[in-house]
Amino acid sequence: MSTNSKIQIKGLWLEELEKILSSWEEKPYRVNQLATWIYNKGVSDFEQMTNLSREFRQKLAASYTLSTLKLIKTQNSLDGSTKFLLALPDKETIESVLIRDKGKNTICISAQVGCPLGCLFCATGYMGYKRNLTAGEIVDQVLQVKPYINRGEILNNVVYMGMGEPLLNYHNVTKSLKILTSDFGVCISPKRITLSTAGLVPQIYHLADEGVKVKLAISLHAPDEELRKKLMPVTNKHSLKDLLAAAKYYAKQVGHRVTFEYILIKGVNDSEKQAMQLARLIANIPCKINLIMYNPIPDAPFERPALEQAQKFREILYPRAPAVTLRISKGVDIAAACGQLKTKVYKKQKGIDFSKLVTPPVVHRF
Ligand code: SF4
Repeated sequence: MSTNSKIQIKGLWLEELEKILSSWEEKPYRVNQLATWIYNKGVSDFEQMTNLSREFRQKLAASYTLSTLKLIKTQNSLDGSTKFLLALPDKETIESVLIRDKGKNTICISAQVGCPLGCLFCATGYMGYKRNLTAGEIVDQVLQVKPYINRGEILNNVVYMGMGEPLLNYHNVTKSLKILTSDFGVCISPKRITLSTAGLVPQIYHLADEGVKVKLAISLHAPDEELRKKLMPVTNKHSLKDLLAAAKYYAKQVGHRVTFEYILIKGVNDSEKQAMQLARLIANIPCKINLIMYNPIPDAPFERPALEQAQKFREILYPRAPAVTLRISKGVDIAAACGQLKTKVYKKQKGIDFSKLVTPPVVHRF
C-alpha cells in the first residue's frame, strides 16, 4: 500500500527489503539493520536510523514512508485497560486495546476493518466488512501501543482478538506473525501470541502446517450445531464437527493445546444442560476453556448472566473439561471487546428474531 505515492515500508519483510537494497547496491547486512530500526526499535523517521549512511536514509525517505497508523484517541477503563482508535492511510479506523492485569500487559490487535462473518454477539459483526489490514498495519498496532506499557513492565502477550477474522486475512496475518516473532522484528515468542478464529477449517489446517506455532483460540460460544449456526453464521460453511477435528489436528501438530472461547450469554448458552453438552463436545481434545462473561453492546438484545450462574456453569464443566477459567471481560466501562470501541451505536441487523435464541430455563439432573 502507498501513501502520497510513497510505499509503506512497514510490512515488508527480509526478502522484500533485500530486493530493494540489492537494487541500490547496498551491502546485504544492511537488511537486518533496516528491519531492526523499523520493527524492533520502531522509529518514526528514517533520519533516526543512525547506523545507515545519510545517502541511504535519503533514498529511503524519497521512496518509502514509515507511517501507517495515526492515533485518533485513547480511552482508559477503570480496570486499567486502554483502548486506542487508530486511523489508517485511507481514513478508515481500527481499534487496539492494551489490557493491564496485575503487572502483565497484553495487546489486542485487529486484522481487518470490520468483519464479514456477522456473529450476533459482536459489535464488529454489525459494521460489515471494509478491507483486510496490511501486514504493516497489523504490526504497527503493536508498535503504537507498546510505549503505553507502564515503565518497568514488559509486553507479555499479543492477541489477534480485535476487529475482524484473522484467518480471512491469512497472507498478511502470517506475514505479521513472522515480523512479530523474529529477532530482527518485534522479538515476541510465538508462545506469547494467540490467534483467535471463529472457525475457518481449511485455514486452521494451513496454520498448523505453517510452522509459526502460535497459540490458537477458537470462538465456540455454543455447545451444539443448531445454536452455533444462529450465533455464528460461519457454522453454515464450517460445521462444528469439522471445526473440532481441525482443533485436534492443530493441537497435535503445534504441540500445545487449543483454547476454546465461550462467551456466556444470559438465557442463550449458559444453562447447566449446555455446560454438560459442552464438556461432552470437547472431550478428547487437548484444550482449555475460557468462559467469558458477555460484554454488553449498547441496545443489544443480549445480557450478561449473573456471576452465580457463570460460576455454576464453570463448576459443571470442571473437572469434566481439563482446564476452565472464568474471565470477567476487561474494559467493560469503555466497551473494549472486539469492535465495541468503534461501534458505539449498535446497528440492528434486519430479519433476525433474537427472541428465538433464548432457551427456556433447564433443570439440571445428574
Ligand atoms: S466475533 Fe470475530 S469473527 Fe465474529 S463478527 Fe466479531 S470480529 Fe468477526
